[in-house]
Amino acid sequence: MTFDYDLFVIGGGSGGVRAARIAASEGGARAAIAEEYRMGGTCVIRGCVPKKLMVFAAGYRAAIDEARAYGWQVEAQGFDWGTFRARLDAELTRLESVYTRNAEAAGVEIHSQRATLVDPHTVALADGRSFTARHILIATGGTPFVPEPFDGLGAMTSNEVFLMDELPSSILIVGGGFIACEFAGILQGLGVEVTQYYRGAQILRGFDDDLRHHVAAEMAAQGVALQVDTDLVSLERLSDGRFAVTDTRGARREFDRVLFATGRRPNTDNLGLEEAGVALSEGGAVIVDDWSQTNVPSVFAVGDVTDRIQLTPVAIREGHAFADTVFGDRPTKPDHTMVASAVFTRPEAATVGHTEAEARANGPVRIFISRFRPMQSAFAGRDAQVMMKLVVCAETDRVLGCHIVAPAAAEMIQLAAVALKMGATKADFDRTMAVHPTMAEEIVLMRKPEREDG
Ligand code: NDP
Repeated sequence: MTFDYDLFVIGGGSGGVRAARIAASEGGARAAIAEEYRMGGTCVIRGCVPKKLMVFAAGYRAAIDEARAYGWQVEAQGFDWGTFRARLDAELTRLESVYTRNAEAAGVEIHSQRATLVDPHTVALADGRSFTARHILIATGGTPFVPEPFDGLGAMTSNEVFLMDELPSSILIVGGGFIACEFAGILQGLGVEVTQYYRGAQILRGFDDDLRHHVAAEMAAQGVALQVDTDLVSLERLSDGRFAVTDTRGARREFDRVLFATGRRPNTDNLGLEEAGVALSEGGAVIVDDWSQTNVPSVFAVGDVTDRIQLTPVAIREGHAFADTVFGDRPTKPDHTMVASAVFTRPEAATVGHTEAEARANGPVRIFISRFRPMQSAFAGRDAQVMMKLVVCAETDRVLGCHIVAPAAAEMIQLAAVALKMGATKADFDRTMAVHPTMAEEIVLMRKPEREDG
């Protein structure tokens, strides 16, 4: 049977674009991508990239304050959201066109519209055309969701936050995960009065407990009104456009804006997957094996839509591995172990490997922790503390986890991740010479365990 394409990718985000480019440029595949919104996907258009630019913008407030302590005669005139928004929009448009150009340069055809699955080898476009393909890759990502009782009442998600016409004076952020904590720090840094409600006992569930407590304390010290063990009970849009909320502690409060950062769901609604026989999980994620293949042999899926690890570099690796396997004659399984990640709070929180609790569940551990005031902000009179932590297997001496809360922690963890991936022991860390004077040197200078099992 001849097909219109060797590969049809639904979704022009990080994972889908990488797969199509590699399949076309290295595997000689006739490949196409359908994207209904903007090329680049969540990461480029309404995720990592605009978020990181907002993190930079927010960081200048503290930097200007510190500059004064270092002798600079500077006066901040306040933050102008309009100026930033215009530059942000221009940058995203530039990146979107880079994505499009790179895909096209690799020989990938782009259909700027929605595509759905008709059968295991056929996709239909919104304009009525349909195409056959030997392989179909679902790379439609995820989307933020607002819990049911509050949906449709005018609150924002991270999709809208980059599109605000003006910054609110006050905002309530609901959630305690990556997105909630990052935007709490960003918006507080930009001068917004931020309240954050988290339903559990401590934010960043799943991260190491010392990291969680340290981040929460630093966020609170910077002025984020963080309320744990607190959830929304009611949400009402007032006639002036503001919001009135009541919470589980019985308080009634008003905010200019409400942002739900309560998780993301796989984008699989009305995609024709069930009709084509593709198995989905209870949460709507496409179920795949280690090769990113679904139960329908011609249909594969990568990235957030599979709900394995919702991170851009993971989606890219999965897309690349898929293209190598199917079109490059190089069977490759993406490796989901020891994946480092960072939460861009202020300071950043970064992590690789096991938490203390996870490691201890497998055997005795030695825990090394260092907390200190970094030189740069201490000189400026700030009390901000950083934290470095190593979780070490007491039997093998292997470093099982590294957790850092510090400015540039995300940059540090990338390199720690190489060491941990290689199986470095605490003795390897100890015999590594420090780079002085840095914050990162502390990671090779911790000698006395803070806690030791057995
Ligand atoms: P997360 O899963 O990280 O956090 C969701 C938060 O919302 C949790 O605190 C959760 O609480 C809470 N929550 C869920 N449902 C409800 C509800 N019904 N009512 C109240 N609270 C609720 O999701 P995010 O949306 O923050 O981010 C999604 C994913 O995107 C992340 O997991 C991450 O993989 C990725 N991401 C990565 C970033 C990075 O690399 N820097 C940045 C942003 C996103 P509980 O803990 O109790 O379940």
